[in-house]
Amino acid sequence: MRCAVIGGGIAGLSAAVYLSDAGNNVTIFESAGTAGGRIKPVNFPGSDFPTLDYGQHALATAYKYTFRLMKKLGSYELLKVPNRLDITFIKDGERAKFTTGYLPYPFDLLLGIMGFKFISGKERRSLIKFLLFIKNSDESFYTSTDLLTFFSKHNQSDNLITTFWDKVILSIFNTPTIDVDPQLFVSTMRKLFFDKKDNFIVFPPRRPLSELLISPALDFITSHGGNVRLSERVVNLSISENNIKKIVTEKDEYSDFDIVILALPPDKAAKLFPDSELKHNLECFRFSPILTGYVKVKKPFLKEKMITLVNSKIDWIFNFGNYFSVVVSANKEISGLDKKEQKNIIFSELNKFFPVFSIDNVLDLKLINEKKSTIMSDNLINRLRDKIYSPYTNLIFAGDWTNTDLPATIESAVLSGKNAAWRVENSLKLWT
Ligand SMILES: Cc1cc2nc3c(=O)[nH]c(=O)nc-3n(C[C@H](O)[C@H](O)[C@H](O)COP(=O)(O)OP(=O)(O)OC[C@H]3O[C@@H](n4cnc5c(N)ncnc54)[C@H](O)[C@@H]3O)c2cc1C
Repeated sequence: MRCAVIGGGIAGLSAAVYLSDAGNNVTIFESAGTAGGRIKPVNFPGSDFPTLDYGQHALATAYKYTFRLMKKLGSYELLKVPNRLDITFIKDGERAKFTTGYLPYPFDLLLGIMGFKFISGKERRSLIKFLLFIKNSDESFYTSTDLLTFFSKHNQSDNLITTFWDKVILSIFNTPTIDVDPQLFVSTMRKLFFDKKDNFIVFPPRRPLSELLISPALDFITSHGGNVRLSERVVNLSISENNIKKIVTEKDEYSDFDIVILALPPDKAAKLFPDSELKHNLECFRFSPILTGYVKVKKPFLKEKMITLVNSKIDWIFNFGNYFSVVVSANKEISGLDKKEQKNIIFSELNKFFPVFSIDNVLDLKLINEKKSTIMSDNLINRLRDKIYSPYTNLIFAGDWTNTDLPATIESAVLSGKNAAWRVENSLKLWT
């Protein structure tokens, strides 16, 4: 089958890989000059930074579809998944480790909780009890309440929430805890901690995602006869008889396809449709920002590899030796400031938490401020995800925001692409 994939982010590439693998003829249309979308490579000419990702990303051992894709592409070995979780929490000048040691699942997680000294014995017990409840519960019960009420029902103290849950939640949902949809929270936590009987590890990839996913995917697609049209923005879809008949780009028009996979963020996808309920729903998605600062220092001063700051504007710090990244998640106020103010905030927070930090030690600081890093994970948006379906016979949606029952992450994007390819293979063949 001839498949047109619109959008060369990881969702579109995932669809294209699986479609090519099944023997289909694939053409990707990507508006940018580089594929990868929100995980595209970023270079800062004239600086000493290596190739970086478009914003700091972290992966988790629960990312089974992403890892499967890497295995198919032959890049999984480059990933070098660490063999244990090791996070340092810093709060009021004190440090506490959350480390899972080398015990097998589920004792690794238990060890992490038992050794985490920022929570009391009582809080530890209620955290374990709550996790067991999540493991065994049916998330469909929790639609009517908000997450803080849900936490309080399960004896999660304020300290547990600010010290532990806020950090977990921001890194997974990129949405303030108070807004997160409890149903999505429960189903995600179950997948994260209990679905895969592997140790629970979260880690920043030590190689750029372009090397792990984007370039290998492009090589795979082209070596299977696929076509990648970069710098070719799709501006219109010509629709008749409930079918996409023509794809109009800034450069040309195409009608030599049987099926279209639309792998764009919802606001971009909305622009391609005539006035309709679908267009309206796509326009209703709201987004959450992430600010990443890549900091290059003369003399490395951070000892730990993965640090989270409690009661700070900075959420995470990932240490790569002579540079480190700082991440500010879901903070619209900071994301709305100018670069100078953002830099001042980063420096002042670093000063507060690391007495040895000095601006004189900073060689370079590069900021990536993406206001639409992910969709929000609140109840309204999560319901909206369920409502989006294609009314056109030969069009399928993909993207991290589609209904994958996962938060909007790389894993969700990869799965959405795989699902789209599966649908082409299994159902649409019957309809066309
Ligand atoms: C700063 C930051 C940090 C993040 N951190 C994490 C993390 O730690 N862990 C995690 O799992 N996820 C994280 N994410 C989310 C993750 O990057 C996304 O979920 C994922 O990359 C989305 O992929 P996608 O293919 O669905 O969308 P996109 O990557 O947005 O791809 C859409 C593509 O469509 C193209 N396009 C747009 N309009 C058109 C058009 N009209 N015609 C043709 N092409 C078009 C775009 O150029 C883009 O390449 C983060 C995102 C950001 C920005």
